[in-house]
Amino acid sequence: MMLGFLLARAGVPVVVLEKHADFLRDFRGDTIHPSTLEVMHELGILEDFLKRPHQEVREIGGQIGQDFVKLADFSHLPTQCRFLAFMPQWDFLDFIAERAKRYPTFQLRMQAEVIDLLEEEGRVVGVSVKTHDGPLEIRADLIVGADGRHSIVRDKAGLKVDEFGAPMDVLWFRLSRRPEDGEQTLGRIVKGKMMVMLNRSDYWQCAYLIRKGDFDHIKQRGLAAFRDDIVSVTPFLRDRVDELKDWEPIKLLTVLVDRLQKWYRPGLLCIGDAAHAMSPIGGVGINLAIQDAVAAANILADRLSRGTATMVDLQRVQLRRDFPTRMTQAMQVFLQNQVIGRVLGSNQQLSLPWPLKLFNRWPVLRRIPARLIGIGFRPEHVRTPDVSSEQ
Ligand SMILES: Cc1cc2nc3c(=O)[nH]c(=O)nc-3n(C[C@H](O)[C@H](O)[C@H](O)COP(=O)(O)OP(=O)(O)OC[C@H]3O[C@@H](n4cnc5c(N)ncnc54)[C@H](O)[C@@H]3O)c2cc1C
Repeated sequence: MMLGFLLARAGVPVVVLEKHADFLRDFRGDTIHPSTLEVMHELGILEDFLKRPHQEVREIGGQIGQDFVKLADFSHLPTQCRFLAFMPQWDFLDFIAERAKRYPTFQLRMQAEVIDLLEEEGRVVGVSVKTHDGPLEIRADLIVGADGRHSIVRDKAGLKVDEFGAPMDVLWFRLSRRPEDGEQTLGRIVKGKMMVMLNRSDYWQCAYLIRKGDFDHIKQRGLAAFRDDIVSVTPFLRDRVDELKDWEPIKLLTVLVDRLQKWYRPGLLCIGDAAHAMSPIGGVGINLAIQDAVAAANILADRLSRGTATMVDLQRVQLRRDFPTRMTQAMQVFLQNQVIGRVLGSNQQLSLPWPLKLFNRWPVLRRIPARLIGIGFRPEHVRTPDVSSEQ
């Protein structure tokens, strides 16, 4: 959606295809980081964006057993917004779509599912699409696969994937939030159990981490035992775990970390999770996908409007984004294996590791994770023009 917006804004005709009827699916987190807010500032849409309901989070904390540590402090970042904005992703996508539709070269087709690629002489020239009105073929100078972790585009294109594995999956559910709960966004680790809670104003979006493949076993133990597990990690939820009346509202989200060896083929480019599925660690996936979109637009907009985009341009997009992707995934895989895998595999209470003790002693250290999470490696800036302001 962001790439569609940027290209349409630069005068390139774009069709964005979305297989669902709306964006109302609660499975992708909703953390809009300072890097993304900076992009919106550069696009001149930040002010309107921040008028939409959201929460602003200036620091992130963690609790290990009884020890509390502030892990990241965003208030010193060299960006317009020194906070994470929490907004459900459907509101964010609706906002970007609404802005994009102001450009006559932008088209969004909902309930349009890409089911195959059209190829001619080894070049991707279009897509086959399933719609309510029947099948459709759409031809284009460039097809961009931005269809997420289970991308059909990359699959049909036969692009090779390196998989890095993940020791955990996530159970994703809501519990109501009360004013006396406090505001902090917190990860909690208690004796082999781990939960992260995102403040969504009137409810907590909870991400309860389990060992990969353990969901069936957890279900066999029964809902009462699972509710007890939640309370043992976060005792103040005791008075509302009964809101989970059956397994239906508890969604299993499988975690994947992988990366394409080559993100492109003649006529085709993959970006976002389609090029590199991100772990939820750090809540950076949406923001990395947006950085890909900005880089792709910067490199390709002018070439696409002249009809001269080549394989070398597609390669430049990968070269630009490969380093930040590799670095971010390396950190995620390290934390998955060294922290999460160990916690979930043990019944012992972990004590606060010494590097984290330093965070309590020297608050300045909290700026490092804030920078890695909030801005990341090699932040992108909008270099594409706004054709409407040039007329
Ligand atoms: C449990 C979990 C929690 C996470 N939490 C966070 C978080 O808090 N913050 C964060 O930044 N990241 C988070 N992530 C990572 C984040 O979800 C992804 O990195 C991010 O959504 C990638 O964006 P994307 O646009 O590339 O793909 P997606 O967000 O997956 O979007 C792909 C879109 O393509 C559509 N689509 C798919 N197939 C087709 C098709 N064939 N035809 C047409 N349309 C299609 C989908 O419906 C979807 O709208 C989390 C990941 C997991 C697993």
